[in-house]
Amino acid sequence: ATPLSVMVGTGKGAQAGILIRSAEALETAQKLDTVVLDKTGTVTEGKPVLTDVHPADGIDEAQLLRLVAAAEADSEHPLAQAIVTGTRDHGLSWPAATGFNSVTGKGVQATADGHAVLVGTARLLGDVVIDTTTLELVASDLSAQGKTPVLAAVDGRPAGVLAVADTVKDDSAAAIAALKRLGIQVVIITGDNARTAAAIAAQVGVTRVLAEVLPEHKADEIRRLQDEGRTVGMVGDGINDAPALAAADVGLAIGTGTDVAIEAADITLISGSLTGVVTAIRLSRATMRNIR
Ligand code: ADP
Ligand code: MG
Repeated sequence: ATPLSVMVGTGKGAQAGILIRSAEALETAQKLDTVVLDKTGTVTEGKPVLTDVHPADGIDEAQLLRLVAAAEADSEHPLAQAIVTGTRDHGLSWPAATGFNSVTGKGVQATADGHAVLVGTARLLGDVVIDTTTLELVASDLSAQGKTPVLAAVDGRPAGVLAVADTVKDDSAAAIAALKRLGIQVVIITGDNARTAAAIAAQVGVTRVLAEVLPEHKADEIRRLQDEGRTVGMVGDGINDAPALAAADVGLAIGTGTDVAIEAADITLISGSLTGVVTAIRLSRATMRNIR
């Protein structure tokens, strides 16, 4: 590409709220045939809200919420913040926890009021051999609704399931439809469970879903698609998306996301909406067409 056309393209991008870091990114964006979208904070608002509380038999709802909130209070995960806020909205306070430990991509553990509390995915609870069968029945019902179930165990026994729900961004479905019209395959990637991910994907018209992907494996999934011969764009907002953004042919960060994601990306979408992905690819195609 000529330096002038790249300058013009980059300038037009900036006007549209699309910050393109390099000439190479502008040139490569038109070659993308696959776009991988992180779910939470990218397809969805990333502002989850506590919606359901299902205590296990013999467990008091308020006690469940207090212990779970105590364990989550030190976590920076958006799910944790939703649970803490939701517990406060129930008019409850919680004890200070000790021995807080965060298990990346799975949940948290801590001690509160002398109880060992474990909160997170079925896999997390399963890792310490707690029988999650009854909790998983409740959880699968919640995830079919597109909510993220959060399982809790107290002193090694099943204690209940909470659900947290996140709203799909207004223009996600329209932007994904536009990407498909450009001939691009759209994939959703998430650490969330497969059922929740499939329910959200269905809401926005995506059929290919990579779920239950641990943060350190997101980049591997991008490389796997590249090994299939695909030219891959990755769109994400979180710290855990940074390696995948760097591995992609073009990494696009949501401007309202974390600095780590923005630094790892080639393009930043200031508005934070997926429409910016469509605009960036169109801009790249137009720029490269002018050059040839
Ligand atoms: P995402 O890709 O949706 O941002 P993460 O990789 O951060 O997801 O986490 C994957 C899953 O692990 C979450 O969907 C949730 O079920 C569970 N999890 C992670 N952190 C927590 C937490 N602090 N409390 C409860 N569950 C958690
Ligand atoms: Mg995210």
